[in-house]
Amino acid sequence: MPKKECPHCDGTGWRPVEIGSVRRVTRCDCEIEDRSGQLILLARIPRRYEHCAFENFDVRKDRLSGQANRYLELAKLYAHRFVEEYPNDFGLLFIGPTGAGKTHLAVAVLRELILRKGVPCLFYDFRDLLKTIQDSWNAVSQTSESQVLQRVLTTEVLLLDELAALNPSDWVKETLAHIVNTRYNQKLVTLITTTLPFAEASEDSDVRTPAGEAVPEVERTLNQYGVTLRSRLYEMCKVIEIQSDDYRKAIKQASWRFHNDL
Ligand SMILES: [Zn+2]
Repeated sequence: MPKKECPHCDGTGWRPVEIGSVRRVTRCDCEIEDRSGQLILLARIPRRYEHCAFENFDVRKDRLSGQANRYLELAKLYAHRFVEEYPNDFGLLFIGPTGAGKTHLAVAVLRELILRKGVPCLFYDFRDLLKTIQDSWNAVSQTSESQVLQRVLTTEVLLLDELAALNPSDWVKETLAHIVNTRYNQKLVTLITTTLPFAEASEDSDVRTPAGEAVPEVERTLNQYGVTLRSRLYEMCKVIEIQSDDYRKAIKQASWRFHNDL
């Protein structure tokens, strides 16, 4: 709803403009602001991420070298460009360790799409979504399930946060496949963040491709949902891999071993 007392449009939401000698009307700013406010509410961005923007995204300069983390710089650049060029026919898949800033960037994309381009967006933590769907099964009425799912399936841009992948059950796999395939067929944009389990990286080296090469972490994480779904995600999203300096240090640290056990 436009503002009733707006001096530019007298509360109609449309203000007159003159292009050359032709009088036209255009959407008033009060209406645009109002729409952004509505879209922000509808997007369900959790409070702890409300402030997330490109301007306050920390590319974490290394204390010794003073160099910004190039993974984070690149991730920010891609995310920013994604907003600039929207509408796009692909989404973004942010992959990285916990605390790397994946959700921050993904939420920044949502907020910019809403505030600058008026795009309807929706945020869902993957586990919360599964729980909501499951809970609604126990309820007498199934309306909440269909309402929740309906929005997940049809909102123009969906952010699925924390696509956790620890031995997902068949039901979880099927639910995710349903969401992803429906959105893919409708040409809707999906943003996903997923965490790489990093401790097992070197331990689990018995996983090999048929050619005998070690399977990269990203592949292995997504393979838990099945090869078909993994291919589909690659098809519909640009993969943005983030490694933080801390992450690299941790990996390095894990490779130091005493010669003799303590
Ligand atoms: Zn107005």
